[in-house]
Amino acid sequence: MKIIIYDTVPCWWKLGWSPADNSLRIDIAKAFIAALPPIPDNSPLILRSKQQISDDLFASFSCDLKAANFGFNRSIKRIGEQDSASDFATFAVLLPKVYIATGKACQDCGGTGERDAGMGCLYCGGSKVEMLHDWDTAYNITKSLQLLFWLLELQPETEMATQIPQWLELSLCAERDMHGSSLGGYLSKDGLQLFNRLVHSKRRIREVEKRIKDALIQAWKHMMEDRDDDYNLRAEIRDNANLFLTCPGDAAGVYIVNERHSAHGCQIDCHNMDNPAQALACLAGLGVFCEELEKMWCEQKKTVPA
Ligand SMILES: [Zn+2]
Repeated sequence: MKIIIYDTVPCWWKLGWSPADNSLRIDIAKAFIAALPPIPDNSPLILRSKQQISDDLFASFSCDLKAANFGFNRSIKRIGEQDSASDFATFAVLLPKVYIATGKACQDCGGTGERDAGMGCLYCGGSKVEMLHDWDTAYNITKSLQLLFWLLELQPETEMATQIPQWLELSLCAERDMHGSSLGGYLSKDGLQLFNRLVHSKRRIREVEKRIKDALIQAWKHMMEDRDDDYNLRAEIRDNANLFLTCPGDAAGVYIVNERHSAHGCQIDCHNMDNPAQALACLAGLGVFCEELEKMWCEQKKTVPA
């Protein structure tokens, strides 16, 4: 079987970002979905999920990519395909509101938005209302993505007829713990080759950095209502074809580990990813990165006749 870091493997799934509705987009080859063997009702995965639902940890569960919803609590929605000729079915993952208003006055400032002598309230940020973190909804989503990425690791035995290569493979942790939202995987040989070309153009580097940064900021602000955290939301592309995504946290972020600058693909790794908002924001950034690789691939195909 071919491996994406050494071989060109036709795309069986790809990641994108939809700024219009703050959602991750995951396109999965229809042929992959058709070929995926059904997961038996008595498998540990299904049995554990049923137990978690009866323990009230989740409201619903689906492991069927042909159904309207996938994962826990309908977190991943199958929204159809661009047209019937498309090789892919599209799934949307709406990012949650994590930091939300309770509807009560902020207890720390008594609903004034200020503390002493005009100083803004640190708790409510001057909004005067009590805020809390709804991590449960966010974990439902990362748990669902963890499961989806796990299924997508089951690379198809027969190659897809899709016209683009696979750009990356991902795995995601979804635990309520330090490093519990770790994200990792591989950038494919074709992805890294294109990335090596991209870094020859300073203009292109700046453009792609800006698009990724815009996605990080939009995703984060949608989830966390943060006002002045732009400095901690960054995308940096280095001349040696390495990408660093930074999000708020303790030097938290996701990066490409292109140490050898070789013809092969390489690892994607992370640092101090402690909560699901960090993982979801970085997935938005990686989605934009994949879209840029596909754009370059299509430009290259136009200039080099088959
Ligand atoms: Zn307050």
